[in-house]
Amino acid sequence: MKIGDILRKGVFSISFEFFPPKTPEGEKQLFETIRKLERLNPTFVSVTYGAGGSTRDRTRNIVKRIHEETNLTVMAHLTCIAHTREELIEILNDYKNIGIENILALRGDVPRDKPDWRPPKGACRYAKELVELIRKEFGDWFSIGVASYPEGHPESPNLEWEVKYFKEKVEAGADFSITQMFFVNDYYYRFVDMCRNAGIEIPIIPGIMPITNFKQIRKFASLCGATIPQSLVEKLERVEDKQEEVKKIGIEFAINQCIDLIENGVPGLHFYTLNKSDATLKIYESIKDKIPRSVNVRGGDGEA
Ligand code: FAD
Repeated sequence: MKIGDILRKGVFSISFEFFPPKTPEGEKQLFETIRKLERLNPTFVSVTYGAGGSTRDRTRNIVKRIHEETNLTVMAHLTCIAHTREELIEILNDYKNIGIENILALRGDVPRDKPDWRPPKGACRYAKELVELIRKEFGDWFSIGVASYPEGHPESPNLEWEVKYFKEKVEAGADFSITQMFFVNDYYYRFVDMCRNAGIEIPIIPGIMPITNFKQIRKFASLCGATIPQSLVEKLERVEDKQEEVKKIGIEFAINQCIDLIENGVPGLHFYTLNKSDATLKIYESIKDKIPRSVNVRGGDGEA
């Protein structure tokens, strides 16, 4: 199933993101998580890709296993910065041959620890070029998702440029977008308004990161520029070393965040699971009665 087609029908999307584990034990745990989350009948799941191509085989193998061993629609993330165009086409051909129809087209991060690192000659410099390459070489075989940043990507000068570059990815052929994690819904609403005013019509699915480990999420958030509200920081700091307390606060926050997003007509919710099912299951259980049967692609309630 192509995710773009599903979303165009007005289906409210629930999706889960996983990363490819490094060890057989990690893979076993991941598939236990997948089995638990499969029962929620998500619209799709996705598997991340190491920016430098480091997970090329592992991402491919997890995507293939999910496709072959479960009933789930799976999307492969693909980053372009460290690959030649020939390599990208080879990876995409392989996905096409195993029947994968959904790609999240990303640039990836330039490796911070290698100051002399340069992209291969003729590489795609931005995600937009990867979207163009996919459309040129594969037509409509793949439904293409792209990343978006309600608070701006760390390299973007401001939100106006953010929207301008995002629009270029959409015009190159992206069907939908998933946002970077955020904890302040007003930033998402402001960003979506700016996108709609700029003529961007595709669904922009909010990315939800349940906080279960404060130190870890604080680091992620500072790297990607996501603001954690001061009131939440203070609550979490008080219990920082009590894992279960942190989790309880993080889950409660995510439940309220998701309810507010649903009430404001979002087209779906994408959960960064970190390969664990516990928090996502608890959040889903608390919001499931509020999930609309259908929405329109502009975000409001509507019939499929
Ligand atoms: P782009 O859209 O190319 O943007 C990168 C930067 O360049 C932005 O600042 C943008 O404004 C700017 N820009 C774009 N076009 C131009 C132009 N023409 N001229 C000048 N500047 C321009 N990373 C991974 O390594 N693996 C993953 O699996 C992964 N999954 C992700 C999933 C989601 C939902 C999100 C939100 C991010 C994910 N990332 C992943 C992180 C992502 O790779 C990084 O944020 C990366 O730095 C930017 O990727 P992008 O696709 O948004 O790039």
